[in-house]
Amino acid sequence: MAHILTTKNPDTLAIAMGHDPERHAGMVNIPPYHGSTILFPTVREFIKTTDGTCPSHVYARYGNPTIDALEETIARLDGADHCMLTPSGLAAITVSMLSFCKAGDHILIADSVYGPTRAFAVQKLTQLGIDVEFYDPTIGGGIRDLLRDNTAFVFVESPGSLTLEVQDVPAIAQEAHKKGALVLADNTWATPLHIDAFGMGVDVNIHSATKYINGHSDLVMGAICVKDELFPTLRKGHDALGACTNGQDAYYAMRGLRTMPTRIKAHEANGMKFAEWLQTRPEVTKILHPAFDSCPGHKYWKRDFSGACGLFSFIIKPCSVDALSAMLDHLTYYGMGYSWGGYESLLIPMYPAQSRTAAPWKEEGQLLRIHIGLENTQDLIDDLAEGFDRLNKAM
Ligand SMILES: *Cc1c(COP(=O)(O)O)cnc(C)c1O
Repeated sequence: MAHILTTKNPDTLAIAMGHDPERHAGMVNIPPYHGSTILFPTVREFIKTTDGTCPSHVYARYGNPTIDALEETIARLDGADHCMLTPSGLAAITVSMLSFCKAGDHILIADSVYGPTRAFAVQKLTQLGIDVEFYDPTIGGGIRDLLRDNTAFVFVESPGSLTLEVQDVPAIAQEAHKKGALVLADNTWATPLHIDAFGMGVDVNIHSATKYINGHSDLVMGAICVKDELFPTLRKGHDALGACTNGQDAYYAMRGLRTMPTRIKAHEANGMKFAEWLQTRPEVTKILHPAFDSCPGHKYWKRDFSGACGLFSFIIKPCSVDALSAMLDHLTYYGMGYSWGGYESLLIPMYPAQSRTAAPWKEEGQLLRIHIGLENTQDLIDDLAEGFDRLNKAM
């Protein structure tokens, strides 16, 4: 039957994993399973579903073959033993947090985290009696001063998906583990390809599969990866919360994942070329791209990452909303909208000062977050160059 895949190359694994032609009429792809009820032929088989000894699927909320194939492939790429898919990236974060803390615990969250992660912790976890504290993302080993006996976990997002600070995750993990705390990481930016999360000390590795894993801006999904040790706790939390995905979305995400290694190389190359052009522009005061030394934590990116993706930010001189509108409202190739990691380019103004508490945002200029897609980079450069011209005229 299935060959044992000994390769460590993600390009090959993304192609070679997740096939089962013998069980699926010889088809290359495992079809999208639809369904709720799973039938059992005999009382003896059915009874196994009640005492936990059933060897196969029990009910669609707990998975199906399409979902299994995607989970196994993501886990392998991530260097994990298990992956559990969730209905969104945010659900991957909330399920992970709820699975690994309880009333009376203290948790530490990087001040640079994705906004809805912050909102969930502040609005919901505090209601459940969990003490939520934000920390400066550049704190590194200094996290030791904030760790308490009841700290359940430290949450990292490196780089932050808006302000791009790269964190010293190994130093944070070392201190957290000394105190018996776990490290939960949102590694959507790195994808499973660009870091060895578990080698860096991460215990629960989280991805918004909406981004590069699916890669085509046509669905929302999350993934949580763990080693064997934490799987029973994660599984209980995930199952109790009913946080399942479905066969159709898993099918599409698997189709996207096949080309993720190839797509990311193109996003990275296009993004680098674009950022180098931005550096030459007088309107731009700072590039927040982990591969550039103007980005906080650039040295940790060099040490810990094997590459970049197409998402970064840059800062332009302070400008009015009218001037910003003149620049952004008339672009041809950039969409203005949330999310990223699809094939298309996006460009949005963002306002990090509004949410930060532990490490106030001090940049005076306007932050713009850009996702460089798979278009011809010169077309993107020409389009934004015209945008800069309109900005200058409107200033
Ligand atoms: C988009 C995103 C999420 C949330 O993912 P959804 O699939 O949209 O719920 C979480 N973290 C980061 C860094 C993201 O960019």
